[in-house]
Amino acid sequence: MRPAKWDGVEAVLFDFDGTLAECFIDFGQMRRAVLDLLPQFGCAVDDSGKYILEVIEEAAAQIAQRDGERVAAFREAADQALLDIELDSARRGHWLPGVPDCLRALRQAGLKIGIITRNCRAAVDLVLGRERVPYDVLLTRDDVDLVKPDPAHPQAALAHLQVAPERALLVGDHVSDMHCAQAAGLRAVGVLTGSSTTEELRAAGAEVVLNSAAELWEVLEGNWETGDH
Ligand SMILES: [Mg+2]
Repeated sequence: MRPAKWDGVEAVLFDFDGTLAECFIDFGQMRRAVLDLLPQFGCAVDDSGKYILEVIEEAAAQIAQRDGERVAAFREAADQALLDIELDSARRGHWLPGVPDCLRALRQAGLKIGIITRNCRAAVDLVLGRERVPYDVLLTRDDVDLVKPDPAHPQAALAHLQVAPERALLVGDHVSDMHCAQAAGLRAVGVLTGSSTTEELRAAGAEVVLNSAAELWEVLEGNWETGDH
């Protein structure tokens, strides 16, 4: 029996990199690749504290103000730079241990499963294709206008699943996933397979922090005490 705390959960949304899979993406390399493009398009962006996708948007807005015709060329070059690095990483990427079995168990129990990621579809498909694993919706950055941590991203997945936010969990490895869950009204579950610590995830709003998403099934089953680290 599920612990009362989890009663009413109908869907679980997962972040991808660092939560379901390990893709070895070099985010520093991605940032450098995009920043290196900016002088070619005559723009400069202060990237401190910003995600690389937001840096691209800011640069595109700058270029649009001066020379609207070059925006498409900039976007294409930036997208290609990210894609090259993401695909290279995805070729070496793999599912995290125990995660595919966990998703199968969730599906068997009747829970709906969604995956939301800032990664691109081609890279995610490469890793997903390594094993037959059930999910109901996958929304990469190619599929939505606003990516997480914008709440529109999980909301779009929940609309597809027809599940209310308060009946869904968002599982992620990054503090921004926890913020995203809160902004969209989902319950936040942190995992330690990425770069964030228990303390950071808790402070960002995680109801529970697990060693891995593979433990989620155990927690939903009722082994709450052993699952809550
Ligand atoms: Mg992640």
